[in-house]
Amino acid sequence: MIVLEPVIGRGTLKVGPIPTFSLPSRFSCPGASPWCVKHCYAARFERVWPNCRVAYSRNLVLSWNAPRFVGAMLRCIPRDLPYLRIHVSGDFQSGVYADSWLQIVQKRPHCQFFAYTRSWNVPSILPALERLRALENCHLLASVDPDMPDPPPGWRVAYLDIDPRAQGVPCLHQHGQAKSCHECRYCFRPGKGNVVFTVH
Ligand code: SF4
Repeated sequence: MIVLEPVIGRGTLKVGPIPTFSLPSRFSCPGASPWCVKHCYAARFERVWPNCRVAYSRNLVLSWNAPRFVGAMLRCIPRDLPYLRIHVSGDFQSGVYADSWLQIVQKRPHCQFFAYTRSWNVPSILPALERLRALENCHLLASVDPDMPDPPPGWRVAYLDIDPRAQGVPCLHQHGQAKSCHECRYCFRPGKGNVVFTVH
């Protein structure tokens, strides 16, 4: 039997030295709006580095078997890891998958997990996301764009600066005030508010 192990990214210019876990863009984005599909930066990234697409697809296949996925992720996430970014590419593809993350996050209480998601806009996935974001060490922000309605009450929101509804702290990295998310940490600090991204 072939045992698949997840491919964990070692960080990016944007997040800094924070490990990342990703899935293929679009294919695993059930809440993607027309705007998001048209402007997907992750799809551009995958075109430039096809190996990323292969690695993300491998993660997707692994994620389809929830118990195996949870076990494999826990083998890869050290107990003392401080931060993990979920989904530089991809999104919460189903409620079962979000519940897998619930188990992972619960078993790594010293790690701050963070993700931006449009899957809140899929009614069958939202309850699992509400369970996940209720965990103290899991920071989910509802991504919105001009094609999307307002997210449910109580969510921190990740706006785009082209959205007339945008209100919140401009992303410090995009505005040259932080080298990376690792330095800034605004999005994965408890009790903070919305963030506003510049379209890139
Ligand atoms: S506001 Fe800070 S933590 Fe959030 S995305 Fe920008 S640099 Fe990263």
